[in-house]
Amino acid sequence: AATDRGENADLLERRDAVFATVQGHYYADPPRIERGWRHHLLSTEGRSYLDIVNNVTPLGHAHPRVEQAVARQLRRLNTNSRFHYASVVEFTERLAELLPQPLDTVFLVNSGSEAVDLGIRLAIGATGRPDVLALREAYHGWTYASDAVSTSLQDNPNALSTRPEWVHTADAPNSYRGRHRGADAVRYAPEAVAEIDRLAASGRAPGAFLSETYYGNAGGVALPDGYLAQVYAAVRRHGGLAVADEVQVGYGRLGHWFWGFEQQGVVPDIVCVAKAMGNGHPLGAVITSKEVAERYRDQGYFFSSTGGSPVSSIVGRTVLDTLRDEDLQGNAVRVGGHLKERLEALAARHDLIGVVHGSGLYLGLELVRDRVTLEPATEETAELCERMLDLGVIVQPTGDHLNILKIKPPLCIDTAAADFFADMLDRALAGLTRA
Ligand code: PMP
Repeated sequence: AATDRGENADLLERRDAVFATVQGHYYADPPRIERGWRHHLLSTEGRSYLDIVNNVTPLGHAHPRVEQAVARQLRRLNTNSRFHYASVVEFTERLAELLPQPLDTVFLVNSGSEAVDLGIRLAIGATGRPDVLALREAYHGWTYASDAVSTSLQDNPNALSTRPEWVHTADAPNSYRGRHRGADAVRYAPEAVAEIDRLAASGRAPGAFLSETYYGNAGGVALPDGYLAQVYAAVRRHGGLAVADEVQVGYGRLGHWFWGFEQQGVVPDIVCVAKAMGNGHPLGAVITSKEVAERYRDQGYFFSSTGGSPVSSIVGRTVLDTLRDEDLQGNAVRVGGHLKERLEALAARHDLIGVVHGSGLYLGLELVRDRVTLEPATEETAELCERMLDLGVIVQPTGDHLNILKIKPPLCIDTAAADFFADMLDRALAGLTRA
């Protein structure tokens, strides 16, 4: 084990030497993870960790069905989607079937950033309007357009002051710590509507309103009831389109809803998906109506060399089949519901827990120093993550104040593992020095 540690430290130094510093890694002294199985990660020192952060692998790590399907396809053919083969058609049909009408037309890409970028371009192309309204405290990606609409201070402290002039932002509709709390959160929607009306009156009606449909980046906070219905109606009244970022919250993770927009009772014009689709393989998609896709034809170009490749299409279809056959959305309801109850019970004993956000297996445990002032417990959250690592759990902070534990394990997690997580959290919270 001593040699392993030396080797791992050397590898980390080599990583730091060759990576741009903006590309951080988890933990100052991270375990070296070379294997995973279901919701477990194994270090080269032989420790097993419970993976609480991986919303990129809904089926769990090293799923044999994905492995076998990919290996078989790689032995046969991998090429671009201008060729004619069955898997891309079958996968695309399956994906479109999961969406309500009129969302029946699919673009296949390789990541969430690409999906959001294309979603914005489709909206601008179809409406002929270059302005976009997005929500503050959001992350949508790193490409030019998806970065432009990302104002999460967690990722870039200068985010709000460095937006291009076509980006407009509305207040984060956070009902826990925003300007309007609890029942008052109904006031966010009329404010966003007023902002859309103001932009329209100044000759800059937005071509798109873009948001997550459930606030993932802020720790899994539900949008206020009726929020998207009001804002979507306003943007459409002025000729714009509603773009939904389902990259984190879609694909069954919320448990009761396959898509976050269902929770709000709306149907967007453009839906951007990625992450869970590929169970770790690079895969993303934009789904819209025939009409929007047609209007883009003479406004922009689209072709992705690897989007919808035979291997990606096989991965996409296998993930959908396995989600269904293993009833993982149902598991998100059952295990997520149980875990939320356990975490809420912990809140009764640990003052540091302000609230438990979220639904299904997208939960956020928000830590505060004071339940009235809601002062964020940022340092305590960082310390808690370190202690959880010692106890065998990989969990990370999120939110602009980095005071929310993001809880989004593989959807195959079982009750025993959820209980282990809650028990270790109980122990780690009891031992915090700064609390
Ligand atoms: N949108 C949201 C809501 C995300 O959370 C992310 C990734 N964290 C992205 C878009 C970008 O996805 P990707 O990292 O696959 O480019």
